[in-house]
Amino acid sequence: MSRRIISTLALLSCAVLTAMPSTAQEPAHKPKKKVVKSDEEWAKILTRSQFLVCRLKVTEQPFSGRLLNNHAKGTYDCVACGAELFSSRTKFNSGTGWPSFWRPNEVDSVVTEIDTSEGTPRIEVLCESCGSHLGHVFNDGPAPTGLRYCINSVALKFVPDRKPAKNAKSKSEAETESEPESEAAKPQADSGSSASK
Ligand code: FE
Repeated sequence: MSRRIISTLALLSCAVLTAMPSTAQEPAHKPKKKVVKSDEEWAKILTRSQFLVCRLKVTEQPFSGRLLNNHAKGTYDCVACGAELFSSRTKFNSGTGWPSFWRPNEVDSVVTEIDTSEGTPRIEVLCESCGSHLGHVFNDGPAPTGLRYCINSVALKFVPDRKPAKNAKSKSEAETESEPESEAAKPQADSGSSASK
């Protein structure tokens, strides 16, 4: 058991160090506001499944999460407090049945604790802001970190990147508005290409 704990501590150190590549170059992050609520208050805010996962640390069934196969660009926020936790840029298909990331969005987006609830020590991942349980981190992930943040889909809220959509819309609207009336029916090719996959 002691060996397992030591190896877990080593992994934890690795996880923390690997997730800190930019701290030497960037100024310290602004301290984030902590979100503190009672279980009664969380129960009013969260759905039953969100409460079970985020506050009671229950693991959702594999391949059951709606964000598992989400490939859109955006951020994955804490469903409880809204803190930005992960980016689509670090999401990968681990084949485990849970959304997986090789790094949190920022160094201090999440915190980790040793979880011995199932005997074998694991490293639990929690939202730094509100303490919600998110999942666990393992050392079998892809480069460059070698880490796999195995996160419950129900603990996440996906927020799609809005910049491309806004640009696309504004461009389309601008083109429509600037077209002479006599040529308004011509740009069928553009409409067709934007509608195709
Ligand atoms: Fe949170």
